[in-house]
Amino acid sequence: MGERHISAKAGQFTESVIREMTRRCVELHGAGAVNFAQGFPDFDPPAELVEAAARAMRDGYNQYATTWGAPELREAIASCYGPLFGREIDPAREITVTCGSTEAMIAAMLGLLDPGDEVVVFSPFYENYGPDCILSGASPHYVTLHEPDFRIDPEELAAAFNPRTRAIVVNTPNNPTGKVYTRAELEMIADLCMRHDVIAITDEIYEHLVYEGEHIRLATVPGMADRTVTISGISKTYSLTGWRVGWLIAPPLLTDGIRKVHDFLTVGAAHPLQIASAAALALPAAYYTRFVDDYRARRDLLVEGLQALGFGCEAPAGAYYVMADISGFGYADDFTFANHMIEHLGVATVPGSSFFHEPGLGVNRIRFSYPKKLETIRRGLEQLRVLAPSAIGSNG
Ligand code: PLP
Repeated sequence: MGERHISAKAGQFTESVIREMTRRCVELHGAGAVNFAQGFPDFDPPAELVEAAARAMRDGYNQYATTWGAPELREAIASCYGPLFGREIDPAREITVTCGSTEAMIAAMLGLLDPGDEVVVFSPFYENYGPDCILSGASPHYVTLHEPDFRIDPEELAAAFNPRTRAIVVNTPNNPTGKVYTRAELEMIADLCMRHDVIAITDEIYEHLVYEGEHIRLATVPGMADRTVTISGISKTYSLTGWRVGWLIAPPLLTDGIRKVHDFLTVGAAHPLQIASAAALALPAAYYTRFVDDYRARRDLLVEGLQALGFGCEAPAGAYYVMADISGFGYADDFTFANHMIEHLGVATVPGSSFFHEPGLGVNRIRFSYPKKLETIRRGLEQLRVLAPSAIGSNG
């Protein structure tokens, strides 16, 4: 083999820091590791959904589904989101089922962007968006969300839009900040999208996890219905991250491009799990109330525990992440601190700088994710107790 091993595109990004942190912690501590790094639950999904998946296999849903998604699931998505969008959604022309919202995002970018296009991405951001832009040949144009409340600076946002801008990515509720975008912020984004003829691609995977305020869908802001691609899926809402079922809702003209890419990327998500996902969308309203209440209890336990240990953090308004300030501990930076916790305390987190376009903005932060049993959160806090004020700075 010659000098060249991997593509120039693949050479532009690195392994996921989140998954690396998880792997190292498990390698070192096995079952004793507490994984606050990767955002997947350590508790079971609703038993009736597991049963629905087994039933779907027994009922013969074992061959390829329709590429755009099993009709049963697309119809369930249309009936669920129609009332939320305040209009009828056509399952035949506006809904595409994908292998998780991860595939939805890359399929949207590959299907809608061209090399040379720019995509506005808020920073800090979910780590996939950078590689997604690179793989689609477009360039991310980062706009900083300003601490302490991760506010948008309207002038900075307006300045990011230029004749090359083709899309903006909006992730609300947000990973890693917990921010829930306000109506005023979404209207400001909508106004710029309309003025510059830009598409919005929204990642709403945490749509049902809002503790304060409400989740507003950019697709419902006046003027945005025919220029918004809405992405979501079952991973977070039903604790089914391993099923890999997500979807996009987009106007027919945009759906056409996305579907072509989706077909050649994956053909489709697992058929029986699509059928069982339709059962998930049929769960009663009480499921969602309980879901948020359970997560609020996890959030409060973690945030109060971290505050008591000396971390600077506020309870997030949405999603299931806490960006904790570590400046009180006197460590050199976020990686030193996170590595110390992995090696000596058996607790995995994610260094804050890995979420920022300008890493310097995140060196005082680490991200905790809390889709965990209360007992796991208690155990993690217990393992961190040696960080309490008397030990501060001792490992700097
Ligand atoms: N989008 C965001 C903002 C996430 O935090 C995650 C997972 O952590 C995903 C997408 C991935 O979702 P999925 O499992 O549907 O691919």
